[in-house]
Amino acid sequence: MNEPSENLNNPIRVLFFAAEAEPFIKVGGLGDVAGSLPLALRSIPQSESDGKQIDVRLIIPYHPIISRETFKTSLIERFPVQARSGRINAAIYQTILEGIPVYLIDGAPVRAVKTVYGQKPLLDGEKFLFFCKAALEFCGRSAWKPVILHLNDWHTAVIPYLLKTQPQGYPDLFNTRTILTIHNLPFMGAGIEESLHKYGIPPSENIDLPTWSRSFLLPMGLSTANRVTTVSPNYSSELFTEGFGCGLQGFLETIRSKISGILNGIDTQVWDPSTDRLISVPFSADALSARSRNREALIQEFKLDPDPAIPLLTFIGRMDIQKGVDLLLESLPAMIDQPWQAIIIGAGSEELENKCRDLEAKHPDRVRAVIRYDADLSHRLYAGSDMIVIPSRYEPCGLVQMIAMRYGCIPVASAVGGLVDTITDHPEKEESTGFLFSPPQSLSLKTALIRAITTYSQTRTWKKMQLNGMRKDFSWKASALEYARLYLDEFQAAK
Ligand code: ADP
Repeated sequence: MNEPSENLNNPIRVLFFAAEAEPFIKVGGLGDVAGSLPLALRSIPQSESDGKQIDVRLIIPYHPIISRETFKTSLIERFPVQARSGRINAAIYQTILEGIPVYLIDGAPVRAVKTVYGQKPLLDGEKFLFFCKAALEFCGRSAWKPVILHLNDWHTAVIPYLLKTQPQGYPDLFNTRTILTIHNLPFMGAGIEESLHKYGIPPSENIDLPTWSRSFLLPMGLSTANRVTTVSPNYSSELFTEGFGCGLQGFLETIRSKISGILNGIDTQVWDPSTDRLISVPFSADALSARSRNREALIQEFKLDPDPAIPLLTFIGRMDIQKGVDLLLESLPAMIDQPWQAIIIGAGSEELENKCRDLEAKHPDRVRAVIRYDADLSHRLYAGSDMIVIPSRYEPCGLVQMIAMRYGCIPVASAVGGLVDTITDHPEKEESTGFLFSPPQSLSLKTALIRAITTYSQTRTWKKMQLNGMRKDFSWKASALEYARLYLDEFQAAK
């Protein structure tokens, strides 16, 4: 293998594992992160990371829905992965993403599920266990030996567990350190005991773990990883509470010293209103008046009331109980005496999708429900709506509020997780970037919406809030440095 970075002065070799990554395939926020954080890490100047270059590479499953046409890959290695019943062939492909080597793992269990995440836990379990086993085998064989394996969510959480409980199987990775990032705690990789058995992986015997969780992949990984991170500082403290700990709070307390929170960033090149080709008219904090043309275009596209005194609200997100769209659907009809109109976009639970359609049917003059995933439309909504409503019941980090603020669209959000870390609600200090409410219930959302609608009519204050948000730095720069520091710590520990 041609390894240019081997010649560099002692780089820290990091292999970043994810189930999805932009631009290859994205389903949610994990795809955004895996597609942008490695690039940000690569561009950290050595002067800011103890003179060390972070040689980060990405590894993902070669999902059948990843376009073979768009992304040209080359086969670099084939080898068998051992399962109880016999050997399963794995093939490693490689491509380069903006200078970063990306490895894609193919094999029958990966091809058995057409989408990134399927409907059957066992098939998903088998796919990701195969992916992880093949990836470890690949690391052991490769001339490029990673010092740090950065895992993300339950899909790759078996890796620290395997390295800790079956070290004899991976003699070349003896000194390898593991960092596991939690993007969504409730998704633990449950219901896959049979797949574990198939690959000869026994459940955890860690008595600190609740019995029910000992064969769930995420807890297995959390108990064995060298370090654990979450995607915002606030979520990392919420995890220890009954409300957010998903039954693991007692166990998490026992590993508190290895947990920290590092805020996600957004790709500020993709999300830049001054260069965005998907919006009607570019604008910026220095030329904010041009924004109103995007609003007008949006109002026209959706045939809503062009009166600028009526604020335009939007909701952009998965139709999932986590995202609290039901709270918005309850609040809006209870404030019909207020001026507002709303465009709601999302896909997911059929029940929630139908409730959105019902609200549109009841208020055809005020509500539009767009039931699909539409990335292009999301750009127009960020650029043209006045407010974005984010009534999440929990939110490990959340990207929509950061994107919205960059586009001068003010968030009205529940005070949970990363929403608290990224939105400032201090009207008295004129530092506000949005409106926070608590608890995540329809009544408190209604109160916050009325507060936002009242502020909207105070043009000077509103504009100040827009500018406050647009001038915030939501890039990966600061957070990538925090990850780099964590890598440096672990690099020292590995020596
Ligand atoms: P999560 O990862 O929990 O779904 P985030 O706020 O972290 O939530 O990220 C959601 C991402 O997906 C954002 O980039 C948002 O713009 C995008 N998104 C969500 N739903 C839709 C949709 N229906 N159409 C277009 N983009 C969407």
